[in-house]
Amino acid sequence: MTTPGKDIIAYCSSCKLDLAHIIVAKNEEKIVKVECNTCHKTHVFRPPKGDVVKKKKKKTTKAKGRARKSKKVVKSNAEEWSEQMALKTDAKVAPYVMANSFQAGDIISHPKFGNGIVIKVVGTQKFEAMFEDSIKLMAQGRS
Ligand SMILES: [Zn+2]
Repeated sequence: MTTPGKDIIAYCSSCKLDLAHIIVAKNEEKIVKVECNTCHKTHVFRPPKGDVVKKKKKKTTKAKGRARKSKKVVKSNAEEWSEQMALKTDAKVAPYVMANSFQAGDIISHPKFGNGIVIKVVGTQKFEAMFEDSIKLMAQGRS
């Protein structure tokens, strides 16, 4: 456990080194302020730079304008869906009613699946719509 008054290794922005610090203030689990044992300045706690493990798993729900393509990642349905939805922010959302007819590009709202985008019409009484969890075949034009 880290408690105020205890030593901790932190990065000192004055000394520009990972140095032993004393914890000055802490809230719950987070160390807030530390005092550098070397320059005796109190500053915000910064983790030592020496072992900065970057574990950034960014989960972007807003897929708009994703420029970086370092890896070829197969988009998940949810990602594809949110990208499509982002492009359709101005579109009218029509409640899904089986008796109605829809066409590609329409946004529908389904009581169970949520909002979806009509991808294509299949035959005369069906269409494919992409919902957040998967693409579903929906019936249309049936009364
Ligand atoms: Zn220092």
